[in-house]
Amino acid sequence: MARYTDANCRLCRREGQKLFLKGDRCYSTKCAMERRGYAPGQHGQGRSKASDYALQLREKQKTKRFYGLQETQFRNLFDKADRKQGITGENLLILLETRLDNVVFRLGFASSRKEARQLVTHGHFTVNGKKVNIPSYTVKPGDVIKVKEKSTNSPKFKEVKEMTITVPEWVSVDVEKLEGKVLSVPTREQIDTPVAEHLIVELYSK
Ligand code: SF4
Repeated sequence: MARYTDANCRLCRREGQKLFLKGDRCYSTKCAMERRGYAPGQHGQGRSKASDYALQLREKQKTKRFYGLQETQFRNLFDKADRKQGITGENLLILLETRLDNVVFRLGFASSRKEARQLVTHGHFTVNGKKVNIPSYTVKPGDVIKVKEKSTNSPKFKEVKEMTITVPEWVSVDVEKLEGKVLSVPTREQIDTPVAEHLIVELYSK
């Protein structure tokens, strides 16, 4: 699977907005968006009027990067969202939010989605008691996501136990047990990702 290996902060600067790809650094004054909040490259500080297509493309790129997906994965998820009943844009966001790596991040067990993906891939989590190491695994209401018994003593999860974690309404967390539960499918209002999903639908509908 192809992986983006260039500087993460460039992606935020390209999208003109914080994508929170580097954990704690994103909340500090070291964040590149705080110091150079303009697009990278020679013409990064130039101004130009964006076309409709450019706006749609940027929104798709931003969303893809926010959740750390490659183009093919993102497109496949969009097609899946399109086949479902309801509003395609909302379906897409729900599918993105209910990926296991995103839920691990939302539960506060990782400081970024990138770290969450790595922790999942390394087999640190179980879903309903069974080990799952697939970041794209879709969770559903009632699923219990837990740090594997063997991993609970690792420095990473000891640190998590010390933290005060605020989670979205559609999940709950028991930090002491290093366990979270999916309470419901998130509604659009419960998803705080700053995305205008209708622009992505417009782009892919061309
Ligand atoms: Fe983006 Fe985080 Fe880098 Fe800031 S520190 S530019 S939010 S990845």
